[in-house]
Amino acid sequence: MPRAGFKSVTIKESTYRELEETYRREKEMLAQEGVGSLTAFVTRIVANHLREREKARLRHFNIYENVIRIQDAKIKRLVDVDYRNNEMFCNYCHSTECLHTGFAWGIYRKQRVTRRSD
Ligand SMILES: [Zn+2]
Repeated sequence: MPRAGFKSVTIKESTYRELEETYRREKEMLAQEGVGSLTAFVTRIVANHLREREKARLRHFNIYENVIRIQDAKIKRLVDVDYRNNEMFCNYCHSTECLHTGFAWGIYRKQRVTRRSD
């Protein structure tokens, strides 16, 4: 039984061995990044994967004036993010800190870099 606050998942022995070997090989480097156990290593791999998967659902649709329009495949909608007062505001989530505003910041920064090099 896992200790309180943890849940267990059963994986193939070969996968476990691969994870363990990779962890052992990179142990020192991982410790410097704050990953001090095999559990923490697996947790980080899974969390990174899920974050990337979430991002993959978004597509940049277009930009007009101060609005970045994003296609969100999960909710099957176009989401408008307003850029005002140095903040991104998502009109869908009514938030300045959601998946959409994070994605909009990425588009905004990339566009500024492109404009500067013109
Ligand atoms: Zn949002």
